[in-house]
Amino acid sequence: MVSNVSPTPITVAHGDGIGPEIMSAVLRILDAAEAAIAPEVIHIGEQVYLSGNTSGIDASAWDSLRRTRVFLKAPITTPQGGGYKSLNVTIRKTLGLYANVRPCVAYSPFIKTKHPAMDVVIVRENEEDLYAGIEHRQTTDVVQCLKLITRPGSERIIRYAFEYARMHGRKKVSCFSKDNIMKETDGLFHRLFDEIARDYPEIATDHWIIDIGCARLADTPEMFDVIVTSNLYGDIISDVAAQISGSVGLGSSVNMGAQCTMFEAIHGSAPTIAGQDIANPSGLLLAAVMMLVHIGQLDVAARIHNAWLATLESGLHTADMFVAGESQQQLGTQAFADAVIKHLGMQPQTLKPVSYTARDAIQTLPYERPEVRKELVGVDVFIDSPNPDANALAEALLAQTRAPFKLKMITNRGVKVWPDGFPETFCTDHWRCRFVGLENQALRHQDIVALLGRFSEAGLDFIKTEHLYTFDGVRGYSLGQGE
Ligand code: NAD
Repeated sequence: MVSNVSPTPITVAHGDGIGPEIMSAVLRILDAAEAAIAPEVIHIGEQVYLSGNTSGIDASAWDSLRRTRVFLKAPITTPQGGGYKSLNVTIRKTLGLYANVRPCVAYSPFIKTKHPAMDVVIVRENEEDLYAGIEHRQTTDVVQCLKLITRPGSERIIRYAFEYARMHGRKKVSCFSKDNIMKETDGLFHRLFDEIARDYPEIATDHWIIDIGCARLADTPEMFDVIVTSNLYGDIISDVAAQISGSVGLGSSVNMGAQCTMFEAIHGSAPTIAGQDIANPSGLLLAAVMMLVHIGQLDVAARIHNAWLATLESGLHTADMFVAGESQQQLGTQAFADAVIKHLGMQPQTLKPVSYTARDAIQTLPYERPEVRKELVGVDVFIDSPNPDANALAEALLAQTRAPFKLKMITNRGVKVWPDGFPETFCTDHWRCRFVGLENQALRHQDIVALLGRFSEAGLDFIKTEHLYTFDGVRGYSLGQGE
């Protein structure tokens, strides 16, 4: 066994709601299996939020995380009401936990599922996309959220998914995006997926538009192996996948960074069942198993995992897994942990036993920013105007427009309303007015400043600008509908 291995320091948070009871069950199993860990307990979540710290985590907790670099976290409760930042998003971004990996496996026939052959791993980008949290109210009618997809962030997660597939003997990596609509952001993600796939010729690939991909995942998950996707899509599809694999109480996830790694169940703090000793500790236990693999305690990880599988096979189930007539006995959280402890040393008979081999950590490649020629070719000026008449706005803008610009079009919610708009189109108070350079004339920042200066003098309420660039001659912005 591992008793002569010096214990690895890990940071542990007992969390809120069902967190403390499932964490206590998991730590008892780890202890019984002689995992060589030295837990440092930190306090995060509801109490820290309610003490006035809007991020839910204080400085001493960060110190522990930066010291141990391994975090076993129970779910926490985000208090209702505004002003509280998501602790998970804060931890992921602060510690650079760029890859969220969620295995979603069916345990048929012992756990009821419509998809007995399901075995999907979802690799979700964890730091960018709409989770950048850059939101603004710009007019009376309109709020916006910036979707940021970056080349380094996308390259890193896509390469991680392929490396993961190669390392775990997986056969296929599927990319989910919505690049038929978001040609710049999701288009970049899809293009990079196709480029990086060429470095892994032994792995099959395909691409799915997120909506039909999600429908197929919910209907026929056996057709997927590893799925890589951006942050919001990954958030949604991984909950769908966990739910249809059997129970939300079984799902675990690892949040992987170059320096730190966080392990947790996928479910939340389930406050309505807290304190009743009925929660399923399995999601957190499987996260702890992944943690043991991560810190190199492979035998202990396999011993616990196999004992857990054998427990499921014996029909000893918590309430969420229990099916009358099929399960043997319904157990509470702590009794289920006791059952897993009793099964330590046993192997499952029907489910495939698990063994872990030492693997190198997946390395990230240094990012090489490509050399590109960037040219300013125009500007979108966003105007706040409650007058629904696009022609009147065009007239006011044209009166202030001088060389080197010409007004090319006005859109409202992305639909062209000038020139040649339709009277049927509903217009808000948020207008995008596209100005481009006259033929062959190079544009400079001063030109934009001068244009905005004239708008200001004329009382036009500009609320933001987006510059239009080409990169090596390729347009770096979307065309307006009808342009
Ligand atoms: P939830 O996952 O807590 O609960 C959803 C449903 O699943 C509930 O019916 C619950 O009883 C059940 N459930 C969840 N875990 C279970 C388990 N281990 N065993 C048996 N049943 C289980 O989601 P929610 O209700 O949307 O959120 C509750 C709180 O959790 C919120 O404050 C939310 O912010 C927080 N949350 C935290 C995390 C995290 O810390 N990683 C993740 C999601 C939600």
